[in-house]
Order: sequence, then C-alpha cells, then structure tokens
Amino acid sequence: MTPLDETFPRALDALLSGATTLWLFEDGATRAAAERSAAEAGRAVRIRSAYKTLLHDVLEDGVLDGARRAVIRYPVLPGVAADRFRLECYPLHALVPDCEIAFVPDPQDGPGLPVYTVETEDARHSVPVPVRRRAGADGRTVLGACGWAARGDEGMPLETEYEAIFERACAAMRALPPDPAAPDGPFFPRLDVEVTLPVADMVLPVGHERISLAEAMHEEIYFAGLEIFRQRLGLPPGERSVRCGQIVPRVVIGDVPRLQMRLNAPEIEPPAPACPEPPDLGTVSHWLSPAEIAGHLDRIGGVPFAGRSRQGRAIPGRFVKGTGRAALAISGGQHANESTGIVGALRAARDLAAEGRASFTVTPLENPDGYAVFRALCRDRPHDMHHAARYTASGADLGHARDCPERNVRDRARAHLSAEVHLNLHGYPSHEWTRPLSGYIPEGFAGWTVPKGFFLILRHAPEAAALGRLVLDAALDALAACPEIAAQNRRMLSLYDRYVSERAFRVHAGCVPYVTGVEEGADYPVTLITEAPDETVDGAAFRLAQAAHARVVSAVAAVIG
Ligand SMILES: [Zn+2]
Repeated sequence: MTPLDETFPRALDALLSGATTLWLFEDGATRAAAERSAAEAGRAVRIRSAYKTLLHDVLEDGVLDGARRAVIRYPVLPGVAADRFRLECYPLHALVPDCEIAFVPDPQDGPGLPVYTVETEDARHSVPVPVRRRAGADGRTVLGACGWAARGDEGMPLETEYEAIFERACAAMRALPPDPAAPDGPFFPRLDVEVTLPVADMVLPVGHERISLAEAMHEEIYFAGLEIFRQRLGLPPGERSVRCGQIVPRVVIGDVPRLQMRLNAPEIEPPAPACPEPPDLGTVSHWLSPAEIAGHLDRIGGVPFAGRSRQGRAIPGRFVKGTGRAALAISGGQHANESTGIVGALRAARDLAAEGRASFTVTPLENPDGYAVFRALCRDRPHDMHHAARYTASGADLGHARDCPERNVRDRARAHLSAEVHLNLHGYPSHEWTRPLSGYIPEGFAGWTVPKGFFLILRHAPEAAALGRLVLDAALDALAACPEIAAQNRRMLSLYDRYVSERAFRVHAGCVPYVTGVEEGADYPVTLITEAPDETVDGAAFRLAQAAHARVVSAVAAVIG
C-alpha cells in the first residue's frame, strides 16, 4: 500500500450559498461562531448538529426550558432498530432534570427526513434528522447520519469531511491487496490510520458521558475494517474470528481535516523487568503497566507459566495450589481495553493465595498486543473506549478464534489445573458507544451501547447446571451486598431503561443485571464473565470496578470451599 495522506475541505467553510439551515459534524462552539460570522456578513443561516441532532437542538434552542413535562415522539422506520432514534436522545433526561420526559414511538414511512416531535405543555416542535441510506462498509445498506443543506422545506445531503474521511478510509481498506502467503488473512501486520478532526468533545454532566465525534470516528474505522475484511474473506456478518491484521485508528484534534494511512511493522518494546514495588492493589485506580502486572505476579508466587502473543509478547500466568476444594481459572485482559479486569484478577489471586484454600491459575493479561495498542491510544485520549485494543494483533477475538496464538496460554493454564470454574473478567463502555455513519447502534453489540451497571454472564455445560447456579448466586449476592455497586447499578439501569424499551437480561435484587446460557465445548464446565462499565475510567470508578471483579472471585471461591 502506498502511504496515504490527504486533507479534506471542511463543509463549514463552503456555507452553501442559499441554504438557510445546515446540519454538520461540528461542535457547538464552532457552529455558533460560524452563524455569527455569517450574520455579520448579512446572512442568516442556522447550523445544526448532524450527530445526536435532537439532543443538540433541544439544548441549543432551549426547547425544554421551563417545561415540567414533555413527550418526545421519536421516529421508527421500517428495517431500522426500533430504539435507534430514541437512543440518539441519550442522555437527555439527565441534562434537563426538571422536565419529565416520556418517549413515544412514531412509525414513519414517508418521503423526507425522519422527524421527532417534542410536545410540551404549551408548544410543539418538529426536529428533522439528517440521515440517508447508503452502502455500509461491507456493502449492506445502513441508515447513516449525514450532512444536510436546506432552504425552507427543501433540502439535500451535503457531503461533509467527516463522511468523506470515513469513506476514503474504507475505500483504502477495500483496495488493500491480500498477502499471497496468507490467503485467509491476516492481510497485513499493522495498519495505522491517523485522522485529524476539528471537532472538540462535549463533556456532559452525567456519569462518564461525552459527545465525541473523534471517539466515534475511531469506532467507525475500526469496525468498518473488520466488516470489510470479513466480507473479503467470505465470512458471515458478526463473525469474530476474522483475521485481517492489526488496525490502529488514532484520532487527534486539529484544524485541518486529514487522513493518513500507512502499513507498518508492529513496534515491540523490549520486555520490561517486573516492577519491584507495584502500586497497592487495594487502591489501584488506573490501569497498570506490564511491569507492574509482572511485579504483582511475582508477589503472588506459585508456578509461573507463559504463552506468547502473535507479536511475540509474553502472556504471563501463575498456578497456585491450595488445600480446599475450589479449582478456578482466573483470566483478565482478553479484551485489552477492558482494563479493570486485569487488576481484579491480580487482586483476587493475591487474596486467594494469602488464604491458601483455593487452587487457581491466573492469567491477568491474555492479550498483551492489544494492551500495547490500548496504552498508546490512551496517551492521546485517556477516556475513550479504544475498541481497536479489544482484539488480538491478528484482528481476531481471542475468545472466538481457535487458531489464535494467544489461546496457548489457556491451554497451559488448563494443563496445570483442570478447573471447574473459569472467572473471565471483562468490561464494556462506561459511556455511550455509537457508530453514527453506520446505523448508529454498533452492529453485533446492540446490548452494550449504554451502561447498565456491573453485569454478569454465566455459561455452563449442560451437565454443570447446578454448579453454575451455585456460582451465579454467590456472585449476584456478593455484588448486591456492596452498597457502592448497588448504587452505581441502580443509577445506570434507571438511565438505561429510559432509552432502551426492553431489557434483554434479568436483574437480581433490583441492582445486578445478568444473563445465563448453556454452552457446549467451552474450556471449563462453568464460565462466569464479569462485565464492568470500565472503558475507559480511572479514579473512584476504576477502583470500584476492580474491587467488584475481585469480590466476585472471592465469593465464588468461598461457596465452592
Ligand atoms: Zn470483553
């Protein structure tokens, strides 16, 4: 691939002559400044947001100022997820706390843009949303947000730099030649994609929420890459074993919209010696470095073992033998942007080793190549979700690809201990996850777009139902008994319920959401997956999440004995 370096004209600079309203992917301050400049030049033009349009319109136009009650009728279109336009309003309730909002679906199937209607005690507002159907990354039709220019009631799509950058990146990935030596992938060792966007984030005064077109661009390019190479390899949509290579989209804020793409050799740092004085696990409130992880493993002791990642990094593990019945496999960092599970695994292992009863293996960092990407991306944007770091360097998900080299550490752990229960510590976005240009709701992850609390997933072999129930009950009770987790979960579930019409999960004691399922052919008879809303938090939220992972492991060890 010839390195690509292109700049893109900004739709804002054209301000299309004759248009009275424009919808652009620009932040509020920039749009307001452009409106003022146009006014000084004698031209009245309103510039609205093409992203989360209803939320911005309501706030910027003061639609709900002084209102105590409102009904928002949101469009429901044929072939589109029923909650899509409702989710686009998230988290409006929390931004207008004095107004009680009810959402009502409004099926629409006519020509023209979909329209929200906002009804208050004394007014009624219509809010059109600029979207258009277009070919998605893998050719399937999606309904994506788009720029729009209108004069009175007449309007048309307006291509913006945000859309153009995404389309150009997709075209370049579609054109990348396969590696003749690896016809099933990976296509390349590493593809760096650097995007410059002139759009500031908008921090919202609720949870860890932020409206960020920069973060959304990372998500769009990464998952579009998976979709493109999945289609090129003839794999079905949603297949997580696709091995495309390591795609690393980095988005920075700058004045000139720009896209740079280049194939690179992966950068492998020399192995760091174990940190002799790693931070106290009881108070760790930030992700750990590999040296700190190694330092904690040294303190835990036991029998060391290791796997090796695709890029050659060690995947460290320990086996500790106890005197009791419990035999556990504890793992973290399968998805390396879920960083609290790594600390939770170490903390649980430290506690179990000190008690001496449970036998266990611990592999706190199963995907060190992804973790290297995570740490690099956090240097620029420490609180984004960074899903590029979720996957292994081949592009495959460690949990879904049998031939992924990172799985060798699981084989080694099992060779040391044929555990009954696998505690697989994970996380998910701490704030809203969107793909504005590709249907808004990230395909394949519809249940994880908005935080819903510290969540549990139990899977068990058909013959291990009783053990599964025992493990699940212990974990549910342990979480419900933690006041901070219960409060966090209630707060998140309450917000979640306003924007998602049906819960696809059960809730224990009003505060611990969970699902269960039967799974054959897994590594262990019972797997309990913890899901902390941790991408990417630090401070008190991180401390709470890592402690909750450890609390679950302790409770499970205790109930088995
Ligand atoms: Zn995960």
